[in-house]
Amino acid sequence: MNEVITIDCYYLDRPEFAAAYLLVEGDEAAFIDNNTNHAVPRMLAALESAGLRPEQLRYLIVTHVHLDHSGGTSALARLCPEATVLAHPRAAPHIVDPGDLVASASLVYGAEEFERLYGTIEPVPEDRVRIMGDDEVLSWGRRRLTFLHTRGHANHHFCIADDRSGAVFTGDAFGLHYPALQTHGPFAFPSTSPTAFDAELARQAVHRLVDLTPSRLYPTHFGAVGDIENTAGQLIRHLDFAERLVADAEASSFSDDELENYIRPRLEDFFAGLLNGHGALAADPDTWTLLDLDIDLNAQGIAVVARKRRKKARESGLRTQTRQDTGS
Ligand SMILES: [Zn+2]
Repeated sequence: MNEVITIDCYYLDRPEFAAAYLLVEGDEAAFIDNNTNHAVPRMLAALESAGLRPEQLRYLIVTHVHLDHSGGTSALARLCPEATVLAHPRAAPHIVDPGDLVASASLVYGAEEFERLYGTIEPVPEDRVRIMGDDEVLSWGRRRLTFLHTRGHANHHFCIADDRSGAVFTGDAFGLHYPALQTHGPFAFPSTSPTAFDAELARQAVHRLVDLTPSRLYPTHFGAVGDIENTAGQLIRHLDFAERLVADAEASSFSDDELENYIRPRLEDFFAGLLNGHGALAADPDTWTLLDLDIDLNAQGIAVVARKRRKKARESGLRTQTRQDTGS
């Protein structure tokens, strides 16, 4: 069976917002990304529909550890005793010891809200986690899966190319592509969410994926993308804009704490321009409801980068000052 099975995880109770993918190879299976604990019953039901038992799940592949991609890993590892978790070298430590991940997310959401959104995330035993290097190839039955380290969205992110389907699973490295926004032609945009957004590295990741000439790309948000050239063009233009916005925010008179007030309206204007180019999308309130969370996260991510740059500039200014003062 060559095809890719798309599982709707109903993340945040929204349809077609975040996916998990199921690959079947002979009498084994693999999940690519696994959303949160809430999605685990849906994922096991998809496995059962494919005629497989939890013991036949061979791999749990995590593109990166953001919790809409990795939150269900520990529960699935417990329920699927033969599965090995495949992770980026910088992601694997967070799978084995999720303490920091849980603590930082709890800080953002508050402990109660974190529990409601994500439930309990347990450590996964180290001997069940395998680190995949850049360009490393995994032979699995008649398939070969190639792991491609792709930074820009997160420093611990990889994509997975599957030679049998010709598909590449892109996590958040090839933007977000919601089915509800495809009614007037392709509409995709990058995730610039906190805390490691880097426009240049994100552009490199997009080019690297296009250069593979895949048959289809499967971003986690959401489902197959066929029009790869056009989508890549949209992502590159948007990343260029995000890069300018970082620089403008850094240079603005807004304080560090107020930077999002500077960034958010500019980002909204940019989205409005993009949506106006897509017929009725901009006028549809559902469009903005769908985009609200991502625009928020993207504004936060851009603010984080602008603050880091200001801090760096201050520190190097201080160093120069000290050198002048001491005459060294
Ligand atoms: Zn992410």
